[in-house]
Amino acid sequence: MSNHTERDGLSFRQSVDHMVDRAVQIMNLDPAVANAIKACASVLQVTFPVEIRGKIEMFTGWRAVHSIHRLPSKGGIRFATSVDQMEVEALAALMTYKCAIVDVPFGGSKGGLFINPNDYSRDEMQRITRRFARELAEKGFLNPATNVPAPDMGTGQREMAWIADTYKHLNPGDINHIACVTGKPVAHGGIRGRTEATGRGIQYALREFFRHPDEVKSAGFKGDLAGKKVVIQGLGNVGYHAAKFLSEEDDVKIIAIIEHDGVIINEDGIQVQQAYFHKNDTGSIKGFAGTPFSPDGAKGLELECDILIPAALEAVIHEGNANNIKAKLIAEAANGPVTFEADRILQKKGIAILPDAFMNAGGVIVSYFEWIRNLTHIRFGRLERRFDEARGQHIVHALEAMSNNPVPDWIQKELVRGADEFDLVR
Ligand code: GLU
Repeated sequence: MSNHTERDGLSFRQSVDHMVDRAVQIMNLDPAVANAIKACASVLQVTFPVEIRGKIEMFTGWRAVHSIHRLPSKGGIRFATSVDQMEVEALAALMTYKCAIVDVPFGGSKGGLFINPNDYSRDEMQRITRRFARELAEKGFLNPATNVPAPDMGTGQREMAWIADTYKHLNPGDINHIACVTGKPVAHGGIRGRTEATGRGIQYALREFFRHPDEVKSAGFKGDLAGKKVVIQGLGNVGYHAAKFLSEEDDVKIIAIIEHDGVIINEDGIQVQQAYFHKNDTGSIKGFAGTPFSPDGAKGLELECDILIPAALEAVIHEGNANNIKAKLIAEAANGPVTFEADRILQKKGIAILPDAFMNAGGVIVSYFEWIRNLTHIRFGRLERRFDEARGQHIVHALEAMSNNPVPDWIQKELVRGADEFDLVR
């Protein structure tokens, strides 16, 4: 079963492999080793029935494991109608490279269920998700030691909580059952800061880029992030948080937001949080606070701007539109938004690209913290916080005794504050 659309004559999987080939060439790696790196270790396909409104419906899902060199293999599960085996294999490979780049000790994996979540009620989604989780667990593709899913497109905390609970019921004797999946609600073993982590990572990575004067200059920029014009595609979890943090904390101007049904444009900067609320209330960004709307979302990618952040789907920048891109820098927040061919064209044009495997690694980094938290059975900061606070207090007393002067209030506050889980994740 395959519904995958090819772009530029290449599947997503081939596009990812070609990028690796290029890296392999630059690194002068043995081609046999390169082949071993590229190969997907295993793929599971399951088809299962669920009774929906009195009728039996069949669902098909996959879980690909790209690398088992470091265990568990890690990566999200997406619920979408774009999902097929080819896509999860490509995404699993990207997970391996992503974890290696940020030195998170996981292999790469990815899962997907062919479904449009909007077609089902909450209760139906719960039954479908639990059944899929059971299939994965029974076949060894869901386990705290070997394969740990997380949220991705179309899934979130809610689905992760159902998956964790299903695994627990199947394995009540596994003391680490809660570590079988990350991205859970905090009340169910999740970690503070995970939901916004990928968006936060986009912000941190862009800040980092602007700390390198040579890169900034060669991309044709002056100054820092402040005032830069940004076009963002996708107001989902990643795109929303990235746009919100960048506009609220770095003075970036979000001049356009592209969604599945079109684009809104405002050269003075769009209020991201308000636009997000509007989208959640109405199902669309259309009609938001008088901003002009155009149903031709793809054209939004070609707007004049400093930074383009594709944060939705793969292969949105391809051979057909790469030449029209006017941004100076593309920050890949989605997985694989720029095809292999487009990458070549953009490089020739001198457009800088910050690749997905680096840009969107914030999610899996904080998933790693969550997994450790689950294995240690204690939240970060819980043991040492009071000790740190007492030590801070001692330092304040010592300073006051030595100088015969009171330590200013704000320094005192900083010194006697012990870090909590959220501080440590940030
Ligand atoms: N789905 C996310 C990604 O593509 C998160 C994976 C994880 O946390 O394991 O990176």
